[in-house]
Amino acid sequence: MKVGVLALQGAFAAHLGALEQVGASAVEVRTESQLADVDRLIVPGGESTTISMMLERSALVEPLRAFVRSGRPVFGTCAGAILLSSRIVGGRSDQLCFGALPLSASRNAFGRQRESFEADLAVRGLDDGDFHAVFIRAPRLEVIEPDPPGVDRPTVEVLAEIDGSPALVRSGAVMCATFHPELGGDTRVHSMFCEM
Ligand code: GLN
Repeated sequence: MKVGVLALQGAFAAHLGALEQVGASAVEVRTESQLADVDRLIVPGGESTTISMMLERSALVEPLRAFVRSGRPVFGTCAGAILLSSRIVGGRSDQLCFGALPLSASRNAFGRQRESFEADLAVRGLDDGDFHAVFIRAPRLEVIEPDPPGVDRPTVEVLAEIDGSPALVRSGAVMCATFHPELGGDTRVHSMFCEM
């Protein structure tokens, strides 16, 4: 299985290491042809406004939309989760989101850099202990009604929570985390994604 990590900006390097540790072959994705060549994709953390702009510059907006639509698994972490959401609160007016799952993402809802924090999360499906999660300028996610309402979409499963909001969610082939699972050396969330 070949897993791509979108490598336009942000925290992509540590994802490659985590994927290799769980036995996946991991490659950086910066172009349409590299995207076409992977079976699943991680959209990493970083700055969602910048990643959005870089996607436009790299002519990756439509290819990424098509990738999501194709049903190949996609995992967005932090800024990546913002990009995969349906609605962004506190974003730039020109920043894109891909509506991969019915989530509203409030940027920087836990505060700026100095309010970044770590927490031990109970994650559904990981029965061998809490996951030590690193939150860096994390968004707050809220599950919203799919738009248009009533369309036949898989339900959103909340696998972990932070402060009463979803921290890890999965819906069909899409997973989103508001934390950075690639930091801290615990690869169980990456395994979970690779097994989806
Ligand atoms: N606050 C950033 C944004 O809005 C996300 C931070 C992160 O990915 N660690 O894009």
